[in-house]
Amino acid sequence: SKHSALTKVGDPVPAAWNATGAEYPEDARLHDLFMAQARRSPDTIALSFEDETMTYLELDERSNQLAHYLIRQGVGPDTLVGISTYRSLEMVVGLLGILKAGGAYTPIDPSYPKERLTFMLKDAAPVVLLTQTAVRPTLPVHRCPTLCLDSEWATIATESKNAPVVTLAAANLAYMIYTSGSTGNPKGALNCHRGVCNRLLWMQDRYHLTPMDRVLQKTPFSFDVSVWEFFWPLLVGARLVIARPGGHQDPAYLARLIRKQEVTVIHCVPSILRLFLDEPTVPQCSTLRHVFCSGEALPAELQKIFFARLPCNLHNLYGPTEAAVDVTHWTCRRDNPSSIVPIGRPVANTQIHILDEQLQPVPVGSEGELHIGGLQVGRGYHNRPELTAEKFISDPFSPDPAARLYKTGDLARWLPDGEIEYLGRIDFQVKIRGFRIELGEIEGALAQHPAIQQAVVVAVDGPGRDKRLVAYLNKRPGHVVTVTELRNHLLVRLPEYMVPALFIWLDQIPLSPNGKVDRKALPKPSNHRPALARGYVAAQLPIEQQLSVLWSKLLDVEPVGIDDSFFELGGTSLLAVRMTSAWQKQTGHELPLVKVFQYPTIAELAAWLN
Ligand code: AMP
Repeated sequence: SKHSALTKVGDPVPAAWNATGAEYPEDARLHDLFMAQARRSPDTIALSFEDETMTYLELDERSNQLAHYLIRQGVGPDTLVGISTYRSLEMVVGLLGILKAGGAYTPIDPSYPKERLTFMLKDAAPVVLLTQTAVRPTLPVHRCPTLCLDSEWATIATESKNAPVVTLAAANLAYMIYTSGSTGNPKGALNCHRGVCNRLLWMQDRYHLTPMDRVLQKTPFSFDVSVWEFFWPLLVGARLVIARPGGHQDPAYLARLIRKQEVTVIHCVPSILRLFLDEPTVPQCSTLRHVFCSGEALPAELQKIFFARLPCNLHNLYGPTEAAVDVTHWTCRRDNPSSIVPIGRPVANTQIHILDEQLQPVPVGSEGELHIGGLQVGRGYHNRPELTAEKFISDPFSPDPAARLYKTGDLARWLPDGEIEYLGRIDFQVKIRGFRIELGEIEGALAQHPAIQQAVVVAVDGPGRDKRLVAYLNKRPGHVVTVTELRNHLLVRLPEYMVPALFIWLDQIPLSPNGKVDRKALPKPSNHRPALARGYVAAQLPIEQQLSVLWSKLLDVEPVGIDDSFFELGGTSLLAVRMTSAWQKQTGHELPLVKVFQYPTIAELAAWLN
């Protein structure tokens, strides 16, 4: 802005930096924007998934039929509708059908463990749960009426193909997404049509997607980045290319899909971008126009690798689930000599306030907590009035008495040129592969194990520059417990990305003088093989020896036995990708990623490779 050149460190933040007003249709609902496009381009392909496609007209009519059915089940404004499906065409029909019925969609990720699903279904108490034949038997026992979008389609197909008439305001809910909660259970963040429409209309204004574009849908729908992946292309007549289930973890598959489907726009959290850029065929993904990063800090050194590998644009977006996906944006510069990649400036109709503990603005250059104001601030947390009141506070900077600020818990500062730099967290929330995790939630789950007296979990840099979780544990006297057992204990309670890579036993958890856990005094993980359920068996065959040398190097563990599970030795899904690509480089033989999950020990994997 014209003021920025004059601003120095220590100055008050110029009001111009938050002057983001833009006139978008105020009363739009998300599905209206799609329906308007479906009228403009009925015969254009809207969705592609494996060998199937669906046109705008088909998607519009099918979601209308589903909406009529849902309305008769009692769905309407501000009611929650669960959706538990794998990535598929039906998933998108489901999301739109829920919105058109006036409901708010609530992703219930079928890959989550039963205990977590049970909690989510009980907490959300959806009016209806949409699912698929393959998913239904894997769900825990629950009380919600369910509908299988595939096998029970005949029931829906009798409904009218015309859009239902529903009275729904932009202030009504569009979706609820669960994020990790510090007190042991996830919490549902409620978002309104107004906020998400603002976010999407801003994105179109800023980046101009065209009907020629193809956007990849690979982000799990329980992560809010998926909201723009699904809906942005569908508002402008572009095509949504849906990755196969599980495909989002496999860079080689993604690069193939991008080339085959001529994808132009993708999202990657930075840790996945790093892996993706390692994939040898990435420079051939020549149709890519925009790569969007968000979810965790984008290191300058990764930006450099990106520009060396791809000629397209790289963007750094920032925002929490509580405020309609992203609230700041930055376009990376090839010639940027700075070691900082900022999170940029606020999006349209959004204000960013960086405040001290008394809620006073800090000057340019000073660190403070980032607060979000404006249209995208969500409604709060489902069933959590106290937490909502604590995090969504009255906005002292707005003339509107109803306006609220969301307290992000992020530390940031304004740079003199009007961009914001992200500096970290004020609490124990961390990001692993872009997944938001409250360490307290993992500690709570560990403390439920009878052998554990006390548990402290930290996120630290592990092999391959990836962050990983390490659990420090204090045993109750007289108990014996293996890593195998602890992992299994957690895997029924937490999503796989919340299970620590390493478990370290301490006689005493170090405390600081005030009696709090002294996280800085926790010892560094050693590289000794941990105690597993099965004992150590050395590699015999040459192929086993080759694998064990590779694993030992990648995982930084010594020794590696042939019956040891990759994941019990500290392996993560990212390290599994690194392992398979290193194996391919070494031997010239393909090792598909799924095989590591299917055959997680050296003995099993070697048998498959032979
Ligand atoms: P989520 O609700 O999963 O989107 O997580 C939101 C949190 O992720 C934010 O509060 C930040 O701590 C972090 N985050 C998101 N985007 C960025 C970014 N571009 N740079 C640094 N941290 C980010």
